[in-house]
Amino acid sequence: MKIRVGIAGYGNLGRGVESAIAQNEDMELVGVFTRRNPEDVHLLSANVSTYKMDDITNYTDKIDVLILCGGSKNDLPEQGPVLAALFNTVDSFDTHAKIPDYFEAVDTSAKPNGKTAIISVGWDPGLFSINRLFGEAILPEGATYTFWGKGLSQGHSDAVRRIDGVKGAVQYTIPVSDAVNRVRSGEAPKLSTREKHTRECYVVLKDGADAKAVEIAIVTMPDYFSDYDTTVNFISQEQLDTDHAAMPHGGFVIRSGKTGEGNSQVMEYSLKLDSNPEFTSSVLVAYARAAYRLSQNGETGAKTVFDIAPGMLSPKSAADLRKELL
Ligand code: NDP
Repeated sequence: MKIRVGIAGYGNLGRGVESAIAQNEDMELVGVFTRRNPEDVHLLSANVSTYKMDDITNYTDKIDVLILCGGSKNDLPEQGPVLAALFNTVDSFDTHAKIPDYFEAVDTSAKPNGKTAIISVGWDPGLFSINRLFGEAILPEGATYTFWGKGLSQGHSDAVRRIDGVKGAVQYTIPVSDAVNRVRSGEAPKLSTREKHTRECYVVLKDGADAKAVEIAIVTMPDYFSDYDTTVNFISQEQLDTDHAAMPHGGFVIRSGKTGEGNSQVMEYSLKLDSNPEFTSSVLVAYARAAYRLSQNGETGAKTVFDIAPGMLSPKSAADLRKELL
C-alpha cells in the first residue's frame, strides 16, 4: 500500500511537492488543500483534485502525511499547530530564531493527538543543519562556516520591492570567493558579515522614480543591506521577466578544524540548485516517508531533522541499504 500524502497550500513548494511525489513510487497524492477558491488553483496534474482548506477535517483518515507548504512568516505559525493536531505533518518553517517556539507549539498540539510532526525540513534549515551538526560533533576544535548562494533571496527581494519608486526587483546573495577559498584551505579565518557575502539587486523603476534615491534606500537599509557591499542594477521589466524568473540557490557548509595531533581537517557539503523550491520540496517528500514510519512506530510529537535516522528517508529496506550503500 502506498503512503497517502496531502498538500496544504499550493505555491512554489506545493507545486514542487506535487512533482516530487510523482518521482516516488511508494507514495500517492490524495489532494491539494488551499485557502483560495479551488477552481482558481491549477495543478500540474489533471488527475489530482483541489479542495477547500476548510474541508480538510473530512480527510483525516484518508491522508497518512500532510505536507505543509505555507509561508514561514504568516501561514505556518498559524497552520502548523492546528494541522499537527489532525495529521502527521512535515513543514519547511525557516525563521531560524523562532524555531524553538514553533517546535513547542507544534509539539503541544501533535503529541496529545498521537501525531508526528517533522518541522523545519528543507536545505537551510534542514540538510545544512545536519552538516553543521556533523562538523561540530566530529571536529570539536574548529569553526563552522555557512555560505549561501549564488541565490535568489525572497526576503531581500521583497524588501527592495517595498521601497517607494520600485516596480519590481530581485536580489541575489553571492559568496565572496576569496573568503570561501581561505576557509577551504584550512586557514580558519575570522570573517565579518561583509567579508562573507555580497548582494546584487536588479530593479525595475516606476515611471518618474528617482534612481539615485532608490539606490541609496537599498544600500543603507538596516539589517538587510547596510552590512554588505551591495550592487544595484536598473533593468527593464522585460529583462526582469526573461533573465530573472528562475529561483536558483545553494551554498556550502564548511567545518575547518584540527584533530588530535594537530592535523588540519576540512569537511564540506555543497548544494547547487537550479530551483530552490523544487529541491526543498524533494527534501520534504523524503521526510514525509520518515514521518509516516515514525508514526507507524508510535513515535509522536514534534521532531526536527536532528531526530530522524537517515535510513528512515529511503524507500529501501534497512537490509538493502546495508548491502548497497554502506
Ligand atoms: P509561496 O509564497 O509560493 O506560497 C505560500 C502560500 O501562499 C501557498 O501555500 C499558498 O497558500 C499561497 N499562495 C501561493 N500562490 C498564491 C497566489 N498566486 N495567490 C494567493 N496565494 C498564493 O511560498 P513558497 O512555496 O515559495 O515557500 C514557502 C515557504 O517555504 C517559505 O516561506 C520559506 O520560508 C520556506 N522555505 C524553506 C526552505 C528551507 O530550506 N527550509 C527553502 C525554501 C523555502 P494557499 O494555496 O492556501 O492560498
